[in-house]
Amino acid sequence: MFDFLMGYVMGERTAARAATMARAAAGASAGAVAGEFHDVNERVDRLILVVDAMWSLLKESGWTDEQLKARILEIDSEDGVVDGRLTPQRHRCTKCDSMVEPGRSTCTYCGADLAAPQSGPTDGI
Ligand SMILES: [Zn+2]
Repeated sequence: MFDFLMGYVMGERTAARAATMARAAAGASAGAVAGEFHDVNERVDRLILVVDAMWSLLKESGWTDEQLKARILEIDSEDGVVDGRLTPQRHRCTKCDSMVEPGRSTCTYCGADLAAPQSGPTDGI
C-alpha cells in the first residue's frame, strides 16, 4: 500500500518540479540548483514520514487500503480533475468577498491579510 501512496504522491508533481528546476538551472549556478534539489528531497522525506505515520495510525484503527484509495480519488476529484494532485483554487476574500488567486496571503483588492494560521503534523514541510 505504501508504494501505491508514494507512486501517487511522487508521480507527476516530481516530474513537473524537476522540469521547472531544470529550466531555472539555465540561469543559476550548479551549486544553487543542487541546493534546491536537496531541499526538495528533504521535504519529500519529511512528507513520506508523516504520511507513513498517519497511515499506520489509521490502519491500527481499522481503516483499509481500499478506503484510503477511495478517499484519495475523492479528494483528487474535488478540483474537477482526477490527475493525482490538488490544484490550488481561487478563494473568496473574507473582508470584501473578491476572488483571490491561490497562494496569495493578502487580498489584491482590499489588502486584507488572508494568511491562515497553520498547526498540524505537516507544518514546516
Ligand atoms: Zn478583499
